[in-house]
Amino acid sequence: MNRDIDISEISDGKIYDSADMAKLGVDDCSGCHSCCCGMGDSVTLDPYDIYRLEKGLKKSFEELLYKNIELRVVDGIILPCLLMNSEITITHNSNKALGSVTEKEACTFLDENGRCSIHQYRPQICRLFPLGRIYENGSHKYFLQVNECQKERQTKIKIKKWLDTPDFSKYEAYTDKWHFFIKDLSERASSMPQEQLKAVSMGILKVFFMTDYNTDVDFYEQFNDRLARIGL
Ligand code: SF4
Ligand code: SF4
Repeated sequence: MNRDIDISEISDGKIYDSADMAKLGVDDCSGCHSCCCGMGDSVTLDPYDIYRLEKGLKKSFEELLYKNIELRVVDGIILPCLLMNSEITITHNSNKALGSVTEKEACTFLDENGRCSIHQYRPQICRLFPLGRIYENGSHKYFLQVNECQKERQTKIKIKKWLDTPDFSKYEAYTDKWHFFIKDLSERASSMPQEQLKAVSMGILKVFFMTDYNTDVDFYEQFNDRLARIGL
């Protein structure tokens, strides 16, 4: 998703590499679940997110659809995003007092303790938070959003460690490929006839999302095959 934002207004003003340390540690989020509720359709999922969810939850894309994820149109292209329609009463223990709060627009993966029930398989946007990516010249760097998290970030952590993703260099290369593929398509989408755009968008949905991944096989090989196959 491409947005024109002034990074200096929302960040600490620095640009980071994955090997850099950033102030990210937040005492395990204890008592807070703010960024897992009311996010609308903003948590867009990419093919690797779907592979991770299919593998971790042993569910097909079809099984995830409408229970945990939904489809939205992003810059003319149909993409899946996390569904935020779960009503849940969360019990918390803050300031040593037990309390509860009912959330009506919670992520379907949030549990009654206010914790992520799929922490190991959580999507990349959840892994990144409160980092953002800035893409340029076929690659990306990171910035630290300073107004999004409800708690003060206390300890410095290496960004690569924060993202907690195996085969990290493959993951970074894949991230760039997917981003620039969708960006290029989004730019072309505005001048495509409606019927052509619909066909292209449905093709992407089918090739990268609706055709289930073989979760016993490396993701990146499957992604590269599909990217070559779609030939857009
Ligand atoms: S997947 Fe987990 S971390 Fe991400 S919004 Fe849902 S509950 Fe929160
Ligand atoms: S807003 Fe910050 S402290 Fe609260 S759940 Fe999200 S990351 Fe954790």
